[in-house]
Amino acid sequence: SLFRKAVFHTTVANLHDLPGDSICEVAFAGRSNAGKSSAINALANHTRLAFVSKTPGRTQHLNYFTLDAGKYFVDLPGYGFAKAPEEIRAQWEGLLAPYLSYRLPLAGLVLIMDCRHPLTDLDLQMLEWFAQTGKPIHVLLSKSDKLTRQEQANVLREVESALSRISERCTLQLFSSLKRTGIDEAERVLANWLDM
Ligand code: GDP
Repeated sequence: SLFRKAVFHTTVANLHDLPGDSICEVAFAGRSNAGKSSAINALANHTRLAFVSKTPGRTQHLNYFTLDAGKYFVDLPGYGFAKAPEEIRAQWEGLLAPYLSYRLPLAGLVLIMDCRHPLTDLDLQMLEWFAQTGKPIHVLLSKSDKLTRQEQANVLREVESALSRISERCTLQLFSSLKRTGIDEAERVLANWLDM
C-alpha cells in the first residue's frame, strides 16, 4: 500500500523550513478530534505514526512524513480547539494560509470530518478557502462505524450536495479507522494525486 513505508520526516514551523526536495505532497486537515491521526495511522497501517504530530511542540506545526523519494504527506494542525483568536490568526496568516495557497508541490487536500458533525463553520471556511486554489479536495467522513447504513447514505448525500456548491473538484467517501473501511478508496485518490 501507498502509505506502508511512511516515516516521520520533519516538523515545519516556518515557511522557509519547508522541504526543498518535494516533488509532490498531499496535506491532511480537519478539526481537532475529527479522527485525522487515526485515519493517517489506518492508511499507514501503523498505530503510532501520526501521533508524532500530537507530541508537545509539534501540534501547531506542519508535520511531514516521507512516502517515497520526494513524495510526502503533511499533517496540518487540527483546528477548532479553544485557542486565543490572535494566536489562530497569526498561525493562519504566517504559515497555513501561505502554505495552502502557494506551495507548488501540494497536489491536493484531504479534509477529515466526523460523519456525525460534518461541515462545521471552520470546515466550510477551509473548504471555501482551499477551493480557490483550484486544487482537488477529498473529504473523509470519518468514524462511519458510528452510523447505521441509512444514516451513512443520508450524510453522504447531504455533504455531497454541499460540496458540489463549493467546488467541482471535491470528492468524498465514508471512512472508519476502527473498522478499517474506506482505506482502498482513499488510497486510490491519493495514489492518483501523488502519481504513485
Ligand atoms: P484527531 O484529533 O483529528 O487526530 O483525532 P484522533 O484520531 O485522535 O481521534 C479522536 C477520537 O476519535 C479518538 O477518541 C479516537 O479513538 C476516535 N476515533 C477516531 N477514528 C475513529 C473511528 O474510525 N471510529 C470510531 N468509533 N472512533 C474513532
